[in-house]
Amino acid sequence: MKSIFYNPVCDFIMPDYGILIPIAPDRAKKIFEALKNKHPNLTFTDMSGVEIFSREDLERVHDKEYISKLLDDDKSLEQEMLKCFELVNELGEYHRYDPTIAKKSLISGFAIILKRVSMTYASSLKALETGFSYHFGAGMHHAMSFGGRGFGMLNDIVLTIRKLQAHQKIKTAWVIDVDAHKGDGTSELTKNDPTIITLSIHMKNGWPLDSGDPLKDPWFIPSNIDIEVDEHSNREYLSLLQKGLEKLKTNYPLPDLAIVVNGSDPYELDELPSTSLLKLTKEEMLQRDLMVFHFLEELKIPQSYVMAGGYGKHSHEIYQQFLEKIL
Ligand SMILES: [Zn+2]
Repeated sequence: MKSIFYNPVCDFIMPDYGILIPIAPDRAKKIFEALKNKHPNLTFTDMSGVEIFSREDLERVHDKEYISKLLDDDKSLEQEMLKCFELVNELGEYHRYDPTIAKKSLISGFAIILKRVSMTYASSLKALETGFSYHFGAGMHHAMSFGGRGFGMLNDIVLTIRKLQAHQKIKTAWVIDVDAHKGDGTSELTKNDPTIITLSIHMKNGWPLDSGDPLKDPWFIPSNIDIEVDEHSNREYLSLLQKGLEKLKTNYPLPDLAIVVNGSDPYELDELPSTSLLKLTKEEMLQRDLMVFHFLEELKIPQSYVMAGGYGKHSHEIYQQFLEKIL
């Protein structure tokens, strides 16, 4: 039985907080409703069974100083959120942020982020039981040990794996990251950890790799397998991914769990400007997702999915076509 983890209380509706990033705030809801038409038994996840991450859980992955900024002081929490969602420009002015239209305070959104982290864990636990689970949210792969970045405050992927390890549910995991942007937070957090093997296929240029300075910037810390795709090699994306997966299988022992960071932002209709170097068609996106799914299924590795990046009014199509195919 394949499981879906979704509850609208976990939707981080950015405009409610005054954030004007073009992430379609209702994409998870849309997908859920479309799937429910065909699978009437689908229900919202019961949040009473989702244990919210504690300070101890968070400190397994992120620096104590950073976690203290988030949990102990509202002012520093607000600053960290402004930084993470890039809501202040170099001149110190608000950018893509208008608190005057906000219905809720920015910092009240942190509780939702924590819920989303906890849902990734709950969903992954389910995947260990059933073989497949999909959480309609999270995938905050840019969050690093020292802080949030790129719309991700907390790295739910590594947080989930470390908690599963601490509770002796798994020993090892793979992270397969197919978001358009490099899974740089994940690689930074796991660089000295042989129990977590990371593969990231992403845009060769552009954010977060645009400074071009691998010696200075932690976002260049390599994953175990990095596959770089440039604007001229879009049509080779699928064969590059296939080779990467083969390498993963050949070079590393099979893990107890795989987390798939299933960003839909390589899609040609994605609306975030920083994803424009990847332009996969809808059909290529389906082939991508089925390739990863069948690869893990054949190896009998439990698979837990998170949504990650996907921006604009078409992003839901990608998740929907994949899930309609496999459910
Ligand atoms: Zn992305």
